[in-house]
Amino acid sequence: MHKDNQPLVFELTKEGRTGYSLTPLDVPEVALTDILPTAFIRQEEAELPELSELDLMRHYTALSNRNHGVDSGFYPLGSCTMKYNPKINESVARFPGFAHIHPLQDESTVQGAMELMYDLQEHLVEITGMDEVTLQPAAGAHGEWTALMMIRAFHEANGDVQRTKVLVPDSAHGTNPASATVAGFDTVTIKTAENGLVDLADLRTKVGEDTAALMLTNPNTLGLFEEDILEITDIIHSVGGKVYYDGANLNAVMSKVRPGDMGFDCVHLNLHKTFTGPHGGGGPGSGPVGVKADLIPYLPKPVLVKTAEGFHFDYNRPQSIGRVKPYYGNFGINVRAYTYIRTMGPDGLKAVTEFAVLNANYMMRRLEPYFELPYKQHCKHEFVLSGSRQKKLGVRTLDIAKRLLDFGYHPPTTYFPLNVEEALMIEPTETESKETLDEFCDAMIQIAGEVETNPEIVQEAPHTTVINRLDETRAARTPILRYTKA
Ligand SMILES: *Cc1c(COP(=O)(O)O)cnc(C)c1O
Repeated sequence: MHKDNQPLVFELTKEGRTGYSLTPLDVPEVALTDILPTAFIRQEEAELPELSELDLMRHYTALSNRNHGVDSGFYPLGSCTMKYNPKINESVARFPGFAHIHPLQDESTVQGAMELMYDLQEHLVEITGMDEVTLQPAAGAHGEWTALMMIRAFHEANGDVQRTKVLVPDSAHGTNPASATVAGFDTVTIKTAENGLVDLADLRTKVGEDTAALMLTNPNTLGLFEEDILEITDIIHSVGGKVYYDGANLNAVMSKVRPGDMGFDCVHLNLHKTFTGPHGGGGPGSGPVGVKADLIPYLPKPVLVKTAEGFHFDYNRPQSIGRVKPYYGNFGINVRAYTYIRTMGPDGLKAVTEFAVLNANYMMRRLEPYFELPYKQHCKHEFVLSGSRQKKLGVRTLDIAKRLLDFGYHPPTTYFPLNVEEALMIEPTETESKETLDEFCDAMIQIAGEVETNPEIVQEAPHTTVINRLDETRAARTPILRYTKA
């Protein structure tokens, strides 16, 4: 329900008004019927809004003011790492030498851009402990799939075609089993033990000659570090499988411990999470993949190499899984990540990790008396609360998330991971001040109190937003495809 009368752009329409002007045509006019089959040509005028440029700007500015982003407020969306994106990244990505080049330009004219990509790869090799990195994949899930295709090519090259299974813990991000399926594998779910870590006994019963790979996030999506990681990677290697590290979020390990040293064979990174690329509605992602030596022949081509003459794209890679993205990845996001890594330096990145972990533990201990904490040990960069206590009083995690909107916060991730009842997954990130963390905790504590004394205010939230509670699924199930005047 709308509580104000911000009109739709169609309602602002005044016939004949326009927000653009074109210079007069200086080439012969071409009829649509000359270039398109009539079946594809619109028979009626499209119903488009007619507005002046200023009215249109005001309309979108008004809408943008209702949006929530990291630049407007705290955004503790667990697993998504909604940290601040430094504005220097934007300035550098807009340097004309980066922004105005074309991927089809001759290599000799874009040596600087190629050097940046090469250097970024080298930094990511260092951060992950891998032997080589590709920047091609466009986002995290795409990186997962790319790595799995390489693992598949590796096993096939060894005649190991019976390796059809990919093991995935039940706490894993949903993209893990999805990527494994798209790469042509069957997924096998591994249980989480009482302590929130991989159930080693369950893992042992499920590995074998048919194991292609294990996909693991460490710290896992409960925010807990897999202490038996060396044993886990050994178990998989002992049967000839590969171990894949979901490094979407590196905020708890960067400059502290490296996937390569934990025994992983490959890793993907989300530069749009840990390395401050804007994401969500903010732009495209970047999901580089790092591999150990025996997977290098399968890297997507072309591979960026450094020669005596300069940087060069090498297409002569007979065992490559092929190209996974047009051109060379989302270059602009890679420039932003490179800028971030260079401005932070090794000590800065270590501080990021330490503050991300400190902030999460600080909030977890402040909230522990008020919400069920299923796993009591110290967490890494994020932690998961359960709304099970509140559920007994008739208030669900969804209600708590909606109530947080009244305090001006983007809610945490809810109902994930799946193995926690009424989960609330909180990731504060290192870029938030103690004051912000405290204000958010105060709001959560107030809500916990309301659940006991005045549950309706939580159940019926939000009250202060432009639109009250929405039907969670209706917009997806019955989209409005066309505006018709009432
Ligand atoms: C975000 C995330 C992904 C997927 O990344 P996308 O860029 O959204 O495809 C995978 N795994 C984990 C743990 C994540 O947090």
